[in-house]
Amino acid sequence: MATDPGLGGAMATADEAVAEALSRRAEVLNNAFAMADLQGRLAGIVAEATGQVVFTTSFGLEDQVLTHVIATAKLPVTFATLDTGRLFPEVYALWQQTEERYGILIRPYYPRYDTLELHVRQNGINGFYASREARKSCCDIRKIEPLGRALAGASIWLTGLRADQSSARGGVKLAEADAARGLVKASPLIDWTRERALAFAHENAVPINPLHARGFVSIGCQPCTRAIVRGEPERAGRWWWEDDAAKECGLHVGQDGKLARAKAGTVETRA
Ligand code: SF4
Repeated sequence: MATDPGLGGAMATADEAVAEALSRRAEVLNNAFAMADLQGRLAGIVAEATGQVVFTTSFGLEDQVLTHVIATAKLPVTFATLDTGRLFPEVYALWQQTEERYGILIRPYYPRYDTLELHVRQNGINGFYASREARKSCCDIRKIEPLGRALAGASIWLTGLRADQSSARGGVKLAEADAARGLVKASPLIDWTRERALAFAHENAVPINPLHARGFVSIGCQPCTRAIVRGEPERAGRWWWEDDAAKECGLHVGQDGKLARAKAGTVETRA
């Protein structure tokens, strides 16, 4: 005799159905656009979207390349950024320059003041150096929670990830289901190298962060980013005081905590 799965079982089944549907949509996008050029990928992914498309930019090299293509093609994409309150002055300058250059408005998302105030009271203004737990808590408050609001209601999340940025990103595909957020995450530069992105930026006069030319390859919050030296992995300058296993703030870590599937790339540091 069949047993009643109950409410918990029914919810699990519904969640699985959503995850399967997202996986199928991601696979459709991979099959349709993996071989397309950047413009074709972006236009195709946006055209196939069943709802809002949100691009989260942190004004890094790859994000600036994507901004250029999206804005030039006038694709119906919402630009969003997470202002942690601890960014480099150069990032704020580039933010303004980018809006003016492309005639776009980039939606800012800020940490909740109450949780941030409590966090700083309990951990200190630079408490993230004290422990991984304190660092992750800071990233949760300043990045993860605001990201959730930035992506609320989105069907597609566009990111500037490249597979060779780190070991953690090696196995990422052009499009992947993000069941936790109920959307498909698409990374149109996934198979690009840093050199290709730099060449594109130079050829198209895309404004980029001057810190890239000073060895800051992956740029996050000011107190948690240092320049790297020739031969170091791209993300070695992020949270450099921690070991290499998890150079992520959590923005791109799935429910399964999926990490290394390829060898981290190394780079020349002069833009
Ligand atoms: S990168 Fe550093 S300052 Fe920024 S949110 Fe994470 S721990 Fe906090």
